[in-house]
Amino acid sequence: MSIDSLTGLIRTIPDFPKPGIQFRDVTTLLADGAGFAELVERLASVARPLDPDLIVGIEARGFILGAALAAALGKGFVPVRKAGKLPGRTVGIDYVLEYGTDRLELHEGQVPPDTRVILVDDLIATGGTALAAAQLLREQGASVLMALFAVDLPDLGGKALLEADGVAAQALIAFEGD
Ligand code: AMP
Repeated sequence: MSIDSLTGLIRTIPDFPKPGIQFRDVTTLLADGAGFAELVERLASVARPLDPDLIVGIEARGFILGAALAAALGKGFVPVRKAGKLPGRTVGIDYVLEYGTDRLELHEGQVPPDTRVILVDDLIATGGTALAAAQLLREQGASVLMALFAVDLPDLGGKALLEADGVAAQALIAFEGD
């Protein structure tokens, strides 16, 4: 299946969650068996040569793609969640949003020092979320081999933000002009 066909399976919902945002909804792609398999295979082709120890996915849609990728590679999966969701002892990082701050957390000890990690989310927009997750992983002594996304919104500069901080970033699909 071509990248254009994969892109065509992503639904765009205008003005969600607020006016002016074009929400790129990957659930329509996930609901398509051939499309989902193709997406995971393409993510695996990018990730496999880097030989990561662990895949880390960002809540919530990063869990779906990250877990599928981890299983395809035969590697473990670790979730990065919003504050207060993980039941065990956590380590976390606070980061600044457009309005206010937010916090990401990880179960303590699930990313040991020197672990080679690939970070996964469905989409990168401004890059703030992925950058915070990458910083949290580095604080654990991990090395972030790459941040990998299904979708990039290049006009929002997220990949450039990550790369300026030394985190290689790649996406399979780009929506220009968002
Ligand atoms: P950011 O921190 O700005 O890169 O935002 C990334 C997070 O917000 C990801 O977890 C995305 O799933 C979600 N997100 C931001 N903008 C959009 C959009 N236009 N369509 C779908 N998801 C988005």
